[in-house]
Amino acid sequence: MAKSIDRIKREHALLLESIEVSSMPFAVYDNQGRLIAWNQPYEKLHSLAFSRPADAGSRPPLQYVDLVRAIAEQTLEPAKAEAWVQGQLEQHRQANGTPVDCHFPGVGWFRVTQFKTRGGGVASFAIDINENKRREAELEQEIARRRELEEQLRLRALTDSLTQLPNRGAFLARGDVDFRLSQRYGDALSVIMMDADLFKQVNDTRGHQVGDAVLEAIARTAESAVRSFDMVGRLGGEEFAIILVRTGIQDALACAERIRANIEALVFDTAVGPLKITASFGVAQFSADDATFADLLNRADGALYGAKRSGRNRVTAHAVPDGQDDRQAVR
Ligand code: GH3
Ligand code: MG
Ligand code: MG
Repeated sequence: MAKSIDRIKREHALLLESIEVSSMPFAVYDNQGRLIAWNQPYEKLHSLAFSRPADAGSRPPLQYVDLVRAIAEQTLEPAKAEAWVQGQLEQHRQANGTPVDCHFPGVGWFRVTQFKTRGGGVASFAIDINENKRREAELEQEIARRRELEEQLRLRALTDSLTQLPNRGAFLARGDVDFRLSQRYGDALSVIMMDADLFKQVNDTRGHQVGDAVLEAIARTAESAVRSFDMVGRLGGEEFAIILVRTGIQDALACAERIRANIEALVFDTAVGPLKITASFGVAQFSADDATFADLLNRADGALYGAKRSGRNRVTAHAVPDGQDDRQAVR
């Protein structure tokens, strides 16, 4: 049985009332793109368009295209405005019921759903998602903060806090990789072990702070003598080591000698007068007889021991273990 006119009117009034009291922006456009019904929240959402003085011929009724143009013109640079307008018009044309998150300048973020009405028009409603967006932004900030913290912790775990050089663990890890590359591709690889001479005396006579300053200076001196792809590490105490990639023993010895001379030339001002220091060096080149990076490092350490025993402030090489003289002093 057909609905009576009265009943249709009652239902229509009820519908309009429901839409009007809803806090959700709601609007209906006819099949010519004309705005035919909307509520206060919708007007507020598009206040930039509604508050604009009426252009002759465009109001009433308001066209969807005028509405988005008015917003774009008042909030976006001309270069971006047209693309935004076209995007909005395309969504309106499709009106396929898919929610789209839109930012309304001055009002905030809304999730807009548009769908076709039976008469070929478009109905549109929007949900305020500013709170979601705020939480999302907070979460992103929190994630970024944590990433930064993790990165700091990671670096701290690999870095010696006094000299900022890679610590023992980081140095050995890198050494392992370089060692295996040399094993596989036959590239030359050398290491230098280096230890400050009579360093205990520095601490005892000048104080621990001077000792620290000396260690930092040694670190910088070594760093500035090698290439960016080599690595200087602090193995502990006053002991340092250097990985020289694609470097044979002669070049490694020359490098160690440069560092030795530069350290010898340093002068430290201390409360009880100037201080000079020296360091000893042991150098070894990768050999097929080394099974691990530790073996190579041990041979350099052996050479360093030789340098200490024969008077300090010198560079000693550990020759490849071929049965001949295994330590040759170069100074
Ligand atoms: P050698 O020439 O035989 O190497 O003698 P040395 O005195 O340098 O060697 P020893 O191993 O007897 O002493 C090393 C000293 O290095 C002892 C320790 O107090 C000092 N040292 C280790 N780490 C640090 C540090 O971080 N800061 C300072 N100031 N001193 C350190
Ligand atoms: Mg020492
Ligand atoms: Mg030592």
